[in-house]
Amino acid sequence: MFETIDYQKDAEGIVTLTIDLKDRSMNVLTPQFVSELSQAIEQVAADDAVKGAIITSGKDSFVAGADLKGLDALFVAVKDDVAEAFDKVRSFSLILRRMETCGKPFAAAINGTALGGGLEIALACHYRVAADNPKAVLGLPEVQVGLLPGAGGTQRLPRLIGLEASLPLMLQGKHVAPAKAAELGIVHKCVPAGEEVAAARAWLTASPDAEQPWDKKGFKVPGGAGAMHPKAVQTFMVGTAMLAKEARHNYPAPISIMASVFEGTIVPMDTALKIEARYFTKLLLDPVSHNMVRTLFVNKQKADKLAYRSADVPRLEVRKLGILGAGMMGAGIAYVSAMAGQQVVLLDTDQAAAEKGKGYSEGLLKKVVERGKMAQSKAADILARIHPTVSYDELEGCDLVIEAVFENREIKADVTAKAESQLGEQAIFASNTSTLPISGLAQASRRPERFIGLHFFSPVDKMPLVEVIVGEKTSEATIAQALDYVAAIRKTPIVVNDSRGFYTSRVFGTYTNEGAAMLAEGVNPALIENAAKFAGMPVGPLAVTDEVTLDLAWKVAVQTRKDMGEKYEPSVGEPVIRKFVEELDRKGKRFGKGFYDYPADAPKHLWPGLAEVYPHAEKQPDADEVAQRLLYIQALETARCLEEGVISRAEDGDIGSIFGWGFPPYTGGTLSFIDTIGIRKFVKECERLARRHGKRFRPSKWLKDRAKRGEPFHASGAKS
Ligand code: NAD
Repeated sequence: MFETIDYQKDAEGIVTLTIDLKDRSMNVLTPQFVSELSQAIEQVAADDAVKGAIITSGKDSFVAGADLKGLDALFVAVKDDVAEAFDKVRSFSLILRRMETCGKPFAAAINGTALGGGLEIALACHYRVAADNPKAVLGLPEVQVGLLPGAGGTQRLPRLIGLEASLPLMLQGKHVAPAKAAELGIVHKCVPAGEEVAAARAWLTASPDAEQPWDKKGFKVPGGAGAMHPKAVQTFMVGTAMLAKEARHNYPAPISIMASVFEGTIVPMDTALKIEARYFTKLLLDPVSHNMVRTLFVNKQKADKLAYRSADVPRLEVRKLGILGAGMMGAGIAYVSAMAGQQVVLLDTDQAAAEKGKGYSEGLLKKVVERGKMAQSKAADILARIHPTVSYDELEGCDLVIEAVFENREIKADVTAKAESQLGEQAIFASNTSTLPISGLAQASRRPERFIGLHFFSPVDKMPLVEVIVGEKTSEATIAQALDYVAAIRKTPIVVNDSRGFYTSRVFGTYTNEGAAMLAEGVNPALIENAAKFAGMPVGPLAVTDEVTLDLAWKVAVQTRKDMGEKYEPSVGEPVIRKFVEELDRKGKRFGKGFYDYPADAPKHLWPGLAEVYPHAEKQPDADEVAQRLLYIQALETARCLEEGVISRAEDGDIGSIFGWGFPPYTGGTLSFIDTIGIRKFVKECERLARRHGKRFRPSKWLKDRAKRGEPFHASGAKS
């Protein structure tokens, strides 16, 4: 009868609706499912023999939420016809409203994860029982894609558990375990897994009353609501101030959630749902949610699933991994690889250093166990997979070796040769170098076609990205199989062609460079740092230079000059770096002083002496101009990387920028940022910036031609 829902009526008149989307690993809200759910509800409502209905799922999880790929169509539709989009947005909300007011009781038997629209279905049921399934989580994560829970979530959750408890769940998009959901009152009961359907049935049999609390006369939001309720007023006052501080007005969704809850909880449910749908439509019209959905979900998922991996190459399962160098990076790589089930040989120059590298995993695992997230025995198994050593013999049989020794060509060449002497013909050798071109390092290899770069970010256990660097001679098979390894350790790969600074370091360098350039121009450093943070960068350019150290920035500059000879063109920020390292001996955070001071007993602060070295210019730029320079220069450099073939796809540029160095997620990444501005306007602004601040802002002919054609980087969501 239905394809997505199994409809079963038993002799007692209880209907069980089992959601099971056949071609999906998880149930998601597709148009077909929504339509069939509506029909099933009408069938329940119309059948006098039906006493009530249970909604459950035929999969491990309940319903995982919206089909984000499907949302893309909505983003495009909304641009053409707002009224139609509003109706579309409302349709699912109205179906759920019909369910809760049709006169028959509905009970949700939440057997697994219920997120977003999935939890909203459950919230619209008259009764909710969740299975105590250790893998299950319940939540409304829409804010993470720049949206709000648009099918009644912003109205039902506060009416169930109060404003104070519901707002953080929606504003942060955090999920909770079933037992916690019961404790908070999101579900009525949490029962042992497997008993949820029986519990729902027992409730239905005993409860022919199908009215939601909020539809009963005299209903009040628990804890109070509205502009006259002292506690509610306080929640909104403090809440909006905190949002402004955190989101800095770059993210419209949290404010819309707040407004929807504030306005909706003082009116009856039907009006409340209309208010919610208006705010949802407004968010759909804003480019932020489209940008976030495109990059953080649709394209990231594609990258995670290796959508562009060559299909002809056999999949590589890395069973045994060698790591050369057990320092900060090697130790982190050992941890994520052992977590993925790989045997790890962790090699350093002396045994104590290798053991110390293993100790890093021990420390992390201890914390995971203490937090109750892993059994001690499992942690012990993971740790036992890491074998610290000084002996190259132990590398025998490795499918992949990653070197993370000092950033020095000779040392890297030496360890490459030593390791390769132990490896089979098919093993891959990867370098985690951050600055040395891969094709050059591959010269030390007997088999440069099996040589590749795997550029991790620090700290490895937290940072989600790996740049896969393709050298001149790296083979297709090596790329594909290196991607298999990255997927196995659950990181997101982007494929980058060998070039100085690869992709992420190269573009990130333009950000720090612009900060240093402004400092030298006499722009107030506090203005530089704050404008960057207000624009959504996680750390100001001066603070982040201190963190990676001015010393490293200077060493890279010196090395690059040496490598490039006459072709070398120093960046505008380079004299600042040189002055700080060579003259002022302020080399960065690790050295205790840089652009900032780091007192032991107080928070860091900008070094007061900065104003003497670079006196403030009389006329300061406005904060928007500072922010524009800082964001534009990164976007422009990304476009250059695409032009030069350093990256091959716009989506890699976007993903790398957000997950690699923290370009603001609301933009959707550096190239989505250009699309949002409109490529023509972007190019025009770059030309203006070039006239004012120098040729580094000059757009290339390639970009100008692209702008003339009005050709965006992404097919949808762009202004021309
Ligand atoms: P680190 O100094 O913490 O660790 C290097 C380790 O290599 C040390 O334990 C050292 O004893 C060992 N080592 C040195 N020579 C060796 C040899 N001949 N044989 C075996 N072991 C040897 O450095 P790190 O920060 O872990 O960086 C390692 C590599 O990763 C460098 O190439 C660096 O550029 C790159 N990298 C670093 C970062 C970062 O943020 N630190 C990020 C990406 C890439």
